[in-house]
Amino acid sequence: MAVPSTDIFKLGFIGAGNMAESIARGVSKSGVLPASSIRTAHPRPQRQQLFQSFGVSIVQDNAQVVDDSDIVILSVKPQVVKQVLLDLKPFFTEEKLLVSIAAGIKLRDLQEWSGQRRVIRVMPNTPSAVGEAASVMCLGEMATKKDEERVTSLFRAIGKVWTADEKYFDAVTGLSGSGPAYIYLAIEALADGGVAAGLPRDLALGLASQTVLGAATMVNKTGKHPGQLKDAVTSPAGTTIAGINELERGAFRGTLMSAVIAATKRCHELS
Ligand code: NAD
Repeated sequence: MAVPSTDIFKLGFIGAGNMAESIARGVSKSGVLPASSIRTAHPRPQRQQLFQSFGVSIVQDNAQVVDDSDIVILSVKPQVVKQVLLDLKPFFTEEKLLVSIAAGIKLRDLQEWSGQRRVIRVMPNTPSAVGEAASVMCLGEMATKKDEERVTSLFRAIGKVWTADEKYFDAVTGLSGSGPAYIYLAIEALADGGVAAGLPRDLALGLASQTVLGAATMVNKTGKHPGQLKDAVTSPAGTTIAGINELERGAFRGTLMSAVIAATKRCHELS
């Protein structure tokens, strides 16, 4: 049973898409806010009904979302952010906090387009849909400690959250933003290896994904360095060191590092 928060504020979403849904569901399910404190607007009845189905209020338009909210999460696609913020500029007031999750849109632009200086930028990732997001936020010049605490509580409802300087955001995108796709590839390849070694496909895929989950949980829960955990499972002349030898010959670690660097560079080019 979720423990209700004592800090109740009004939360609005501009853009009732997939990310907004994940965050709104996580926030209400975890008890950070009652769903009745959350509102959004969307022209499509289907999206309206979906949000209403777990208690979120639907208001008339974006302007009313801003008007009725203490914290406004901007969750539209990056291409439309500028126009949406310019349209909403007259509705922002000093006491409101603007939070943007739009990939690649900088604090400076958010502040300029909205006229709002209490701004926080957050980069979540797709596992937010299952409550396992890795989110990083950076604070605009006028965002307060309380703003940071509130936004931390919101994004903690969908996973883990860190605060970092905005200069790291391209690298954050290259690592945690794009990272789930790297690991999907790894899971698929592990399963293919299992099939090549004679396992039925379903069993191979189940073992591969659970093994990745288990290893990640070991790192997170024990706090041990992954090298230490690797050493603990490699016995002399054993099976695991034979497998690791092949990974090293294939430049597994160098390839993963290069993937993060390439995605970071691409993010920099695009922003
Ligand atoms: P989405 O397409 O599911 O949602 C966007 C929603 O905005 C849609 O429902 C669309 O109808 C609505 N919309 C479009 N124009 C609008 C307007 N003028 N006013 C109000 N609503 C409008 O996209 P998403 O995956 O939820 O992504 C939302 C934002 O989150 C993007 O900026 C993306 O960069 C960012 N983001 C997403 C992820 C992710 O994992 N999906 C991760 C990090 C950041």
